[in-house]
Amino acid sequence: MSGKKIIVQKYGGTSVGTTERIKAVAERIKGYVGKGYSVVVVVSAMGHTTDTLVDLAGQITKNPDKREMDMLLSTGEQVSISLLAMALHETGVDAISYTGSQIRVITDGNFSNAKIESISPERIMQSLDEGRVVIVAGFQGIDANENITTLGRGGSDTSAVALAAVLKTRDCEIYTDVEGVYTADPRIIDRTKKLKEISYDEMLELARLGAAVLHSRSVEFAKKYNIKLHVRSSFNYEEGTIVMPKEEMMERFVISGVTSKTNEAKITLRDIPDKPGIAAQLFKLLGENKLYVNMIVQSTGKDNKASISFTVLKNDLPRARDLCEKIKSDLKATGIDFKEDIAIVSAVGVGMLSSYGVAGRMFQVLSEHGINIEMISTSEIGISCVIDSMYAELAMKAIHKEFLEAEKYVC
Ligand code: ASP
Ligand code: MG
Repeated sequence: MSGKKIIVQKYGGTSVGTTERIKAVAERIKGYVGKGYSVVVVVSAMGHTTDTLVDLAGQITKNPDKREMDMLLSTGEQVSISLLAMALHETGVDAISYTGSQIRVITDGNFSNAKIESISPERIMQSLDEGRVVIVAGFQGIDANENITTLGRGGSDTSAVALAAVLKTRDCEIYTDVEGVYTADPRIIDRTKKLKEISYDEMLELARLGAAVLHSRSVEFAKKYNIKLHVRSSFNYEEGTIVMPKEEMMERFVISGVTSKTNEAKITLRDIPDKPGIAAQLFKLLGENKLYVNMIVQSTGKDNKASISFTVLKNDLPRARDLCEKIKSDLKATGIDFKEDIAIVSAVGVGMLSSYGVAGRMFQVLSEHGINIEMISTSEIGISCVIDSMYAELAMKAIHKEFLEAEKYVC
């Protein structure tokens, strides 16, 4: 063992989008080698390569074989790891690239969304001990039968964090084309701020509610193995955002992020009997048909009648609609409403755990803008409101202003 400090760095598609970018990344890595680090690098496919590969398959068949699809998609990363190794050699740094199978990234057999079960560190450690930079293809592994598997789109983040866990380092940098995690999408809100720190739970909650900066499983892994994820840009040397345990955070805000999603639709069944078993019947049916249900709100019964509203993915609406129409007479519902143009606007923050009045402030802000709240749901660290999609931007701006634009929140 060399005893050097190991750092895992992951470079996303844009960071290695061209050969010029790959050369720039090689220079950056060289800098870390110069500082005495043992560097393990995980790379994604160049630019939009994976999309192009998906598109190619689509030109051949509407229903590609899952095993062959993973065989195809895994090729993108093989291009970038070898090119990056060559670029490092050009700068005088010794480097070696490995595919997932070469370092035994063993996954389950769930093609296109496989979960990592184990990784063997031996070969990586040996190369590091020989003084080399190790470059690993992200997003890929093999199952117990040595079939190539992929981890789901954006899965290289998870490859990187899993490697950090196996190599027993807390240092994992995720290089991307944005400078870190922002309080809201900067394309929508002008006065967003880059957070210095954010907790694992907030990142997971933001991803669930529509703001996916990292592959969610990577954050789960990081939380489990206590790895600090530094999300930063590969285009400059600014510090980014550190995703870390909330106990270690220095700055605490009530709300750390505002987000919205518009990929769900709302269904309401009116005047169903207010008695045991009705909700069970409805949601069992939806579950048996593999429909993902997110928010559920039931109104208090009156005259032994209640109504239930819930949201499903927009893509699933036709199927959900058929099922609801079928069950309508069984449940004796007087009517069903479907609404596609909804947005789920959310505020997320661990600070909610120790503050009161947050929900009231959020609802007040919406009411001041004449925005009607159609459904509300909360978690420990999140409040979400279903509103008409035409007000999504206005609502986000207003909530962001209320909670994140006061001077004391500048970070
Ligand atoms: N290249 C894969 C994708 O585009 C994996 C990744 O980028 O993390 O989804
Ligand atoms: Mg990517």
